[in-house]
Amino acid sequence: MSPWGGAVANDVHGKNHHRMGTFGRHLLSFRLRRSDGAIQTCSPEENADLFRATIGGLGLTGLIEDVTIQLMRVPGLQIEVEEIRLRNLNDFYRLSDESENNWDYTLAWVDCLARGDEIGRGIFSRARHRAGGLERGDLLPAISVASVPPISLVNCLTLSAFNALYRRKLLGKKIKRSIVPYDKFFYPLDGIGNWNKLYGRAGFYQYQCVVPSARAQETIRRMLEEIAQSGQGSFLIVLKTFGSMASPGMLSFPMPGTTLAIDFPNRGASTLALLDRLDMLTLSANGRVYPAKDGRMASSSFHLYYPQRKDFERHIDPRFSSSFWRRVTASGAEIK
Ligand SMILES: Cc1cc2nc3c(=O)[nH]c(=O)nc-3n(C[C@H](O)[C@H](O)[C@H](O)COP(=O)(O)OP(=O)(O)OC[C@H]3O[C@@H](n4cnc5c(N)ncnc54)[C@H](O)[C@@H]3O)c2cc1C
Repeated sequence: MSPWGGAVANDVHGKNHHRMGTFGRHLLSFRLRRSDGAIQTCSPEENADLFRATIGGLGLTGLIEDVTIQLMRVPGLQIEVEEIRLRNLNDFYRLSDESENNWDYTLAWVDCLARGDEIGRGIFSRARHRAGGLERGDLLPAISVASVPPISLVNCLTLSAFNALYRRKLLGKKIKRSIVPYDKFFYPLDGIGNWNKLYGRAGFYQYQCVVPSARAQETIRRMLEEIAQSGQGSFLIVLKTFGSMASPGMLSFPMPGTTLAIDFPNRGASTLALLDRLDMLTLSANGRVYPAKDGRMASSSFHLYYPQRKDFERHIDPRFSSSFWRRVTASGAEIK
């Protein structure tokens, strides 16, 4: 079974989406084992519909046995990074536009406690590959959260302390330049082992949506206002603009626009109500929510986010299902 199956099944995207599109764009072919024992080779030329259904197909079309992908050559293992202070959301859009052509990777960390004119305050990061190897000991030292605390360590107090400290990362400068090993830039969360335990026994919800470009700035502002007012954010909140390259999968999540990704400590009904309000804003702007990170999306929302599901359904393997799929196609929400 291929270790790349999860990347195909959600047609994953990275910080370079604006230049490279999704993972599926770099897939040349794969072999898919169906429950009747048949193995289908799929590519843009062979079984093309099954190829498109399986990319972003949430693991429902069969078992991906192996994949052939096109990699790109990089000049070295180091990354040149610029981190730039964001005063507000306007700065985010200006820097995203400005960085689109010359920087391979872009994203912004946003302070979810900012309000008013400061909504969108944070740090914009842009990066590109650079020649050079790694020194011994360069790779991330892991510190680890040893046990699950009874209550979440992510609360208003720790959050405002963390956010204030994080913004000082630039040491009062407008821009900080550095050269870092690739893993420090790509996998910052791996620097804290078991980071998920910080949320305590109740755990957390991940939420990621994308809003099409035409309505993005206004909708993202409203979402950040909702989150700030709720006092329920966390320090993991990321904004990124997706590029215009089409995603190849029938149910692929990315579309041209802005994506917001955030983790929320689970505070029960109030957190679910906040997520519903974010869904309403996403829906009203014709955006969509990412199934890969979802644990609560309503079936009615899924059907509006993904009208292409009707074409997709024909390719589901009859003996495959998932709790996500059963939820979003539950009775009362039959596909019309
Ligand atoms: C902290 C965090 C950060 C994330 N950041 C991003 C991000 O930046 N961009 C992004 O796009 N996503 C992101 N994700 C989502 C993640 O990339 C996807 O959920 C991805 O599918 C996980 O892949 P996996 O290999 O871990 O697969 P798993 O979690 O094991 O499986 C994910 C799905 O793939 C299916 N699958 C796995 N293997 C196969 C196979 N061989 N054949 C058929 N189906 C298979 C499973 O059935 C399941 O539906 C993030 C998730 C987390 C928890």
